[in-house]
Amino acid sequence: MTVETIRPFDPTCSSELRQQPWSFDAPLPPIYGPGASQEDTIPLDAPVQQQLPAQYRAMSPAQLDARIRNAKAALGERLLILGHHYQRDEIIQYADLRGDSFKLSELAAQRAVADYIVFCGVHFMAESADVLCQPHQQVILPNMAAGCSMADMAHPDDVLNAWEELTELLGPQQGARQPLVPVTYMNSAAALKSFCGERNGVVCTSSNAPRVLEWAFERGERVLFFPDQHLGRNTGAAMGIPLEHMVVWNPRRALGGNTPEQLRQARIILWMGHCSVHKRFNVKQIAQARREYPGITVIVHPECEIAVVQAADMYGSTEFILAKIAEAAPGTQWAVGTEISMVRRLAAEHPDKTIFCLDPVVCPCSTMYRIHPAYLAWVLDNLLEDRVVNRVSVDATTKQWAKVALERMLALR
Ligand code: SF4
Repeated sequence: MTVETIRPFDPTCSSELRQQPWSFDAPLPPIYGPGASQEDTIPLDAPVQQQLPAQYRAMSPAQLDARIRNAKAALGERLLILGHHYQRDEIIQYADLRGDSFKLSELAAQRAVADYIVFCGVHFMAESADVLCQPHQQVILPNMAAGCSMADMAHPDDVLNAWEELTELLGPQQGARQPLVPVTYMNSAAALKSFCGERNGVVCTSSNAPRVLEWAFERGERVLFFPDQHLGRNTGAAMGIPLEHMVVWNPRRALGGNTPEQLRQARIILWMGHCSVHKRFNVKQIAQARREYPGITVIVHPECEIAVVQAADMYGSTEFILAKIAEAAPGTQWAVGTEISMVRRLAAEHPDKTIFCLDPVVCPCSTMYRIHPAYLAWVLDNLLEDRVVNRVSVDATTKQWAKVALERMLALR
């Protein structure tokens, strides 16, 4: 049976998304742009994209396509273009590899013949690729303004302040167990992965968060989990940790807005961060999907709020969602709680199943969306002239400790 994607998609949740991405370039102050939450604030030290040369802004889609294909052919295996699952189709068509951030970084490091890794994702992903890649490889982010609002919610200075407050409150290590183990989600700055590496902590992904938290509790009394409170809470709840033993740390308040007693009793201290895309999903949308499509399977990402995860039939990482839908029988129906570009692509790739996004007016990830073909053409044309623009390079000390935290995670497989 062939079933089309049934729900009509609103073309955008914000008319501003119809603007060209270079509307947000320098010399304007850095802003997240459409689709981000009103509460999201971009750090002052976030990377800023230089204004795209006018000729690229004026090129037609066909001209950009020709430029990109020409550069790909000329650079051959020296070039590796990575496309994150949330990336728009206009970019994914040029990707040599598609995946989540960690898988792509690992695969890039294994492709030693590639001198240039063009990461069509967001800034923390390019940093992770630089940490994991080989010394001769250079990582390029086509638009430096492609950040991640969640990653930016945990500024390294704020995390360090929290750590100092907490270690003073909890006291020195007694015996073999640490009072506090830092765990950072992959979606964080390299500086925070390094922070964890230096303090006997670790990195996790949305696939391995349960195993990583088990590891952390084997070593310590509590976990400081950042930047996504929802992934931390969902994982903790699935491990049987009561909600009252998972407190939220608000970096703008003393002791994160908690009493000393709450912090001493906590098993997980959750950083007050979230993904603006996954925060849009709610329980009402799930109820509506079930009403309209009896028997439908609801599958969501663990960056969604706990009520959404608990109301869904299953939850997991982007790779988990892709695999579950790919292996499902023809004719099955799926309401998916994750980023719209990936859901639309899934629907197009599985026309024998009904697949739609839980939120009918969901936005794309507005920062990922900034990787427009014009930026890709610009960085590739520069490579043809032996010029590397928009290189993302992590300093040696940060890289060393970030690698330690990533390797601890890899050893857990
Ligand atoms: S989908 Fe959310 S977590 Fe992922 S890059 Fe976009 S803002 Fe960041």
